[in-house]
Amino acid sequence: MVKVLVAAPLHPKAIEKLRSAGFEVIVKEYPSEDELVKLIKDVDAIIVRSKPRVTRRVIEAAEKLRVIGRAGVGIDNIDLEVAKEKGITVLNTPGAPSRSVAELAIGLMLAVARKIAFADRKMREGVWAKKQCMGFELRGKILGVIGMGRIGREVARIAYYGFGMKIIYYDARGKMEDVERELGAKYRELEDVLREADIVTLHVPLLPSTRHLINEERLKLMKPSAILINTARGGVVDTGALVKALSNGWIAGAGLDVYEEEPLPKDHPLTKFDNVVLTPHIGSTTTEAQERAGVQIAEKIIEFFRSN
Ligand code: NAD
Repeated sequence: MVKVLVAAPLHPKAIEKLRSAGFEVIVKEYPSEDELVKLIKDVDAIIVRSKPRVTRRVIEAAEKLRVIGRAGVGIDNIDLEVAKEKGITVLNTPGAPSRSVAELAIGLMLAVARKIAFADRKMREGVWAKKQCMGFELRGKILGVIGMGRIGREVARIAYYGFGMKIIYYDARGKMEDVERELGAKYRELEDVLREADIVTLHVPLLPSTRHLINEERLKLMKPSAILINTARGGVVDTGALVKALSNGWIAGAGLDVYEEEPLPKDHPLTKFDNVVLTPHIGSTTTEAQERAGVQIAEKIIEFFRSN
């Protein structure tokens, strides 16, 4: 019988799927490394989220392990090198959070454009800040999508169908006929997206080629009325340069879910701007995304043992 160790909170539907497939499921949420070394000994598969860490020591203690499943996207908590050495397959669910992250990106756009978070803070201080809350509509504005992958496309669709925004985009893969046809989107070079867009939204992975993709020089290209949304990874933006851009009025505001340092340190300069909206990396923190991630990883693991 296939034995699966569920080492992080997993949606009940996912556990049910594994059990109905005839798997033995052991649940031990977030064990310590020492506990994990013991638990992993005789299991065929393990399921984790962004925690616990599946280190060399853990993998080397496993005698039967064939699959490491990550319910979610990032697999930086898994020692991929050792997994490869030992011929262990690593699976994840890259599409599960896309819609949730896209909706948060739109939420941040609205929050910055209409000063929602600022207005809420003022209300709680007993200040009726109507005059300080002049905003702008999304309709008819140019949305610049940097990284037209799963999440970028979802944002572009909501912006186009829901708000009547015009879409321009940049992606390392170049022009994409399907997106251009469906959304009337136009491909531009990175610098041109930054120059033309009213809202720039980032959806590239963090790679050596995208680290500080948005730097001082590129922030200077943006319109002073434009806003920057980052729900990708903190390292895609040079934080020091962003603070400078906001202080000098090179851009009109920012909506951020991800940071170079997480948690964002208390009293960080970014917390001082009224025109910046901050959320604590909650892009995929929705019941739907969590359910999809769990169910999809369960299905992938079942499929793996059926076909291998
Ligand atoms: P994806 O792989 O579907 O899309 C990424 C796109 O970026 C691809 O089209 C790729 O060609 C493009 N790209 C890669 N390198 C590039 C470069 N140097 N310049 C321009 N384009 C480049 O990924 P996705 O699922 O859409 O995820 C996008 C981002 O969202 C990732 O950074 C991911 O880590 C992040 N994310 C954040 C959260 C959150 O909680 N905020 C949750 C999930 C994912």
